[in-house]
Amino acid sequence: CGIVAYIGDQPAAPFLIEGLKTLEYRGYDSAGLAVLGAKGTTAVRSVGRIRDLEAALPKRLAGKVGIGHTRWATHGPATEANAHPHRSEDGRISVVHNGIIDNSGMLRDRLTDAGVTLASDTDTEVIAHLVARSTADTLEAAVLDALGQISGTYALAVMDEAHPDRIVLARNGSPLIIGVGEKETLVASDAAALVRHTSQVIHLDDGELATVTAGGFHTFDRNAEATGRQPVEIEVAA
Ligand code: GLU
Repeated sequence: CGIVAYIGDQPAAPFLIEGLKTLEYRGYDSAGLAVLGAKGTTAVRSVGRIRDLEAALPKRLAGKVGIGHTRWATHGPATEANAHPHRSEDGRISVVHNGIIDNSGMLRDRLTDAGVTLASDTDTEVIAHLVARSTADTLEAAVLDALGQISGTYALAVMDEAHPDRIVLARNGSPLIIGVGEKETLVASDAAALVRHTSQVIHLDDGELATVTAGGFHTFDRNAEATGRQPVEIEVAA
């Protein structure tokens, strides 16, 4: 399973597909991506190989912001409906997640009681709804709000149509690495997916979050305090 994300001056989809192919070795049963462009979010998901996902992409997919995922199912079977990204009911928020949300059963019940229609069997989907329902005025604060309600392990990437200039990341127990490029910022679960694009990376720590933009990144902790991380030279196992 793995995560990739892109924000920069180039179309996001080619890096997302290439990155997901690099992460295939980690194992997965389904995959998906979401790209945010001038006309909003386009999400494509499929059971099976990355090349099947690639074949299912629309010809025109120009958005320069995107997130991608390979899923190793823990909650719910390997179906297209359970593949990531998971989205809020209005489609504004898209989330990819590796890991397990331990209290998802309780949160699913609570969301259902609040009138939310759940679209999948996954633990992950609650994150999209919690972020969308937060009354916080920044995406970062909304993600912190959601994380305050969940317990479990995660690497996650969150994209918001209301804030198309950024992707918010969080890590607790699953790896997540930011690659700093020129006019682009890339994200992956494994540095191997970044090495063709940059030599400067930040390995997020457990409990750490980040905002990535086309121009750079900002790391912070659960209290929204800056952690001031600096890029280091990439190391990839030979
Ligand atoms: N628990 C999530 C799911 O079952 C994420 C699994 C993963 O790490 O790929 O969809």
